[in-house]
Order: sequence, then C-alpha cells, then structure tokens
Amino acid sequence: MKAMLLQELGSIAEGRIPLSYAEIPEPEPAADQVLIRISACAVCHTELDEIEGRTPPPRLPVVPGHQVVGRIEPGGRVGQRVGVAWIFSACGTCAYCASGRENLCAAFQATGRDANGGYAEYMTAQADYVHPIPDELSDAEAAPLLCAGAVGYRALMLSGIDGGATLGLYGFGASNHLVLKTAKKKYPRLRIFVFSRNLKERTQALELGAAWSGAIQDEPPEPMTAAIDATPAWLPMIEAMRHLIPGGRLVVNAIRKEDVDKGELLKLDFSSSLWLEKELKSVANVTRQDVRGFLSLAAELGIRPEYEEYALKDANQALFEIKHGRIRGAKVLRVL
Ligand SMILES: [Zn+2]
Ligand SMILES: [Zn+2]
Repeated sequence: MKAMLLQELGSIAEGRIPLSYAEIPEPEPAADQVLIRISACAVCHTELDEIEGRTPPPRLPVVPGHQVVGRIEPGGRVGQRVGVAWIFSACGTCAYCASGRENLCAAFQATGRDANGGYAEYMTAQADYVHPIPDELSDAEAAPLLCAGAVGYRALMLSGIDGGATLGLYGFGASNHLVLKTAKKKYPRLRIFVFSRNLKERTQALELGAAWSGAIQDEPPEPMTAAIDATPAWLPMIEAMRHLIPGGRLVVNAIRKEDVDKGELLKLDFSSSLWLEKELKSVANVTRQDVRGFLSLAAELGIRPEYEEYALKDANQALFEIKHGRIRGAKVLRVL
C-alpha cells in the first residue's frame, strides 16, 4: 500500500522533505483489532511536534496521522464507516481509566506516533477505540472533528464557560475555528474575541461570528471570562492571562510549546496576570467519550469544519503550510 512515512526527525524548514511517499506492506489486524480502508485523514499541528521531536515517536519509521476516516474491511464489522482519533488505546484499568479520564492514563498510546496512523491507504486500530461516523457528516468533514474538533471541545468544556460571558481564542486554525462554531451554536449569547497573527484568519473569524478580532497583543474590547490558547508560542499565554477577569481561566490547547519565544515568560506579572484567583490549565489528549460526544454534537447542531483537501502524497505541502502559518481552517488528505 501507499503511505507517507516519517523515517527521521528534523525541522520542517525550506528545502527539507519530512515525510517520504513509500510502498509498504498492508497491515495485518491482531485479534482485538480491525483493518480500515482509509478514505480521508486530517492534518494536525501535533504532527509538526512529532516530526520536529517535541513529542517524538518511540520507533521509526512511523506513519503519522490521527484524524482518520475509513471503512472496516473483511474480518470486522465490514463496511462500517469509522473514525480513529489520537487515542489509539489506554490501559483500561488504572484509576484514570476507571474514572473516565483515560486521556491521562500513563499507558496512553497515540495514533500515528506510538502506532501507525492514517497517512496511508490502510491502518489497523483497536476495535474498542474506533468511532462510528454519523451519516450527516462526509468523510472529509468528519476527519478534522476527530482531533481539532474533539480536543477543542474538551478545551471549551474545561474553560468552564457558560451562557453570557466572554471567551478569547488565541490562534484561529483547525481547532479554534471549530471551537468558535461550537460555542456559537451552544451558547448564542457568548461574545467571542479572536486573536491571530494572521489577517486572513482575523477576517475569517469575523465572518464566522466572532464579536471582535485583533492581533495577539491587541486589547480586547472587554476583559474575558475564559480563553483558549491553541498556538505553539508563549506570548499568547502571557497576553491572555493579563486580559482575564478575576477568577478567569486560560486553557492551553497544545501538546508542546516551541522554544522560539520562551523569553516572553519573564513578562508574566503576578499581580495583573495571576493574582485574584486566575487559573492556567492545559488540555491533554482526548477520551473516547470526547470524540463520540463531539461527533454527535456536530451532527446534531450542524457544525462543519472549513477545510482544504490535499492528495496523500502532498502531505508535506500541508505540513509546511501549517508550520508557516498559511492556514485557513483544517487540512484534509484525500486517500480514496
Ligand atoms: Zn491532533
Ligand atoms: Zn489507564
């Protein structure tokens, strides 16, 4: 089968091709697994973190990709359309798994990092960790919901936001544009402020219903009840904490931050940014319940991603565009 392979870690710089288009054997499912014929796989910023070594795969080569949509092949529930998300498996018995927080399990295995993922024609997945795709969603529409959507939804829930407050979104790529769409449907009175370094994203945010948009260091029109930072940089965290109301909360939706602007952390001022019970929290991974809950919410409320399609062999191009901030919504590899 055809696959995009990560064979060696390194920076995603001009002139360097991170993934190679290769012919590899079709995988054989184990007794507790299903074989999936892949039709679409969305591209996530976390793939950059894998390739550049901030969350490195334990073994190479590996097939990346953890927002996978396809159909189960002979041996399983044949023909059923399913998705595979970042959670490839968890232990199922520890205190976290037993309390619905399998995303924090020490044995958490990630799709496309700890096991081969969806930048390929076929993959195997644990039968208990695939998610039925609601009929309302096309393959390409469903793919970005599996990580960008589901983790964004988890971040929105962790923000503690409700009806008539103000929410700040830092970065407006695959995840936060879905957070905006979800929040608008779920909390129609919520006022959402979008901060982005990219003018096109700021314009798109207003088109999709943001009350205001500006650059990362701009002052929002009013203090914010909560904020979600989905950027790889440190400055947005510093800015967001400063603009929270007393008791407000920032949720950081990033698996790793890049070191480029780490010096900005020294600007964190205790009295204006942390005191008065402001909170800073990260969101980590997803549970199966997050993925399934968000898929059905998206089907029910009509939440659809903005996305662009790429051929499987053009995955490097999609990654390069994410690295350099050329993002409009999500990016989906069309395999079939
Ligand atoms: Zn992801
Ligand atoms: Zn566990």
